[in-house]
Amino acid sequence: MGSHQTSSKSFSAAIIGGGISGLTLAIALQQRHIKVQIYEAATKFRQVSYGLAMSPTANRVIPLIDPHLGEIYKTLVTTHRGGPGDEDLEATWFRVVWGSGKNEGHAVFDFKSSTGMTSLRRAEFLNLLTSFIPRESIHFNKRLLYLREIDSGLRVVFEDGTSGTFEVVVGCDGVHSNVRKSMLPNETTEPQYSGMFAYRAVLDMETVIEAVGEERARIATKYISKGACGVSYPVDRSRKVNVGLYRTSPNLKTFPPNPVKWAIFDHHPVSTFCRGRVVLIGDAAHACTPHQGEGIGQAVEDVYVLAELLSDSRVITSSHAIAAFQAYNEVRRRRTQQTSRENGKILCLNHEYFGDDEKKLKQEWRERYNWIWNLDMNDHVERARIIMYAALAELD
Ligand SMILES: Cc1cc2nc3c(=O)[nH]c(=O)nc-3n(C[C@H](O)[C@H](O)[C@H](O)COP(=O)(O)OP(=O)(O)OC[C@H]3O[C@@H](n4cnc5c(N)ncnc54)[C@H](O)[C@@H]3O)c2cc1C
Repeated sequence: MGSHQTSSKSFSAAIIGGGISGLTLAIALQQRHIKVQIYEAATKFRQVSYGLAMSPTANRVIPLIDPHLGEIYKTLVTTHRGGPGDEDLEATWFRVVWGSGKNEGHAVFDFKSSTGMTSLRRAEFLNLLTSFIPRESIHFNKRLLYLREIDSGLRVVFEDGTSGTFEVVVGCDGVHSNVRKSMLPNETTEPQYSGMFAYRAVLDMETVIEAVGEERARIATKYISKGACGVSYPVDRSRKVNVGLYRTSPNLKTFPPNPVKWAIFDHHPVSTFCRGRVVLIGDAAHACTPHQGEGIGQAVEDVYVLAELLSDSRVITSSHAIAAFQAYNEVRRRRTQQTSRENGKILCLNHEYFGDDEKKLKQEWRERYNWIWNLDMNDHVERARIIMYAALAELD
């Protein structure tokens, strides 16, 4: 699958990290006839198979990255279609429900979107992405230690003692990014504990129906309560339910047996997403807590903007690619360094202003998600292109 045309560019490019950002970027570049090599730390793709709630942003942008990818992706996702309730439920992304207190179990608000709820398993998504990338472009067991600028480009040095030289490098190595550390040695780039733990499990639909009833089990739900918030949504064509609980204390007494426990990290906003020949995307650039369900949405927006800029016919050399990185940085940094931690606080009813005031909560969520979901991607890319053309003009 995928294009094997020769590259229209005269620079060599490496992607560090073969997660969702790295793989989707490789597909986007390949679709635009730009050759790239991926270096991934893992020995193979891990089949971690918890669920992913895909945001309306992700649904909108994935087909822009590659229309064929978008077509297959659409056939894989689980939605509310065919579930309980009226047709209106098809447009529900998540239903927000009181998880405790006097209104426990009552619905607060339905997040509505053009695509409604869409979910799939992480392993399923990674399998789809890798099926679009030629095997010879992915190098496993290559954990980047650091990168260093040399005359001819960037030296990338791996843990196994090997190294390579590229003219440009894209850091897609997640929240613990070594590319970020190398690129910004004078900044605080270490991930920071967000103060919350996540517990996750994938359960049989019947088990969840028994626990919370048919309607609650089949409808994607966010539970809000003091000091904790939860999420559940169907996956695997509604045969299973992905459940997650987020709370500030690491000790949990009542939850399904053997949940996976995660400490949730994000990192300080960085001063720039690019420096010279290096650029960061996805969690490496702006890892945030999962409370807005936008990690993948923002990563694929990064990918689309960067791929559109790099594939512009005026971008030929590595100096031009650097101008593209600068333009990407200008438009993306402003958008992505936003407030997922704050949404976690709101969902856990710990926010000083919103508290448990239903009216304020609804208003806030309407505005917040409208801003997140409804970005005009064409306009966004064109703004970046104008910035890039100005930088290219200075090179001439
Ligand atoms: C508990 C939890 C639940 C979440 N749920 C959702 C959800 O439902 N929906 C959603 O949209 N988002 C969700 N997210 C966020 C989402 O998972 C991330 O935003 C997304 O995976 C970012 O992709 P990435 O490729 O940038 O980073 P990653 O997925 O972290 O991928 C980084 C890749 O780089 C590799 N790597 C790391 N270091 C190196 C190195 N030094 N050298 C080479 N390779 C390296 C890693 O092995 C990995 O393959 C969740 C996050 C958490 C923590």
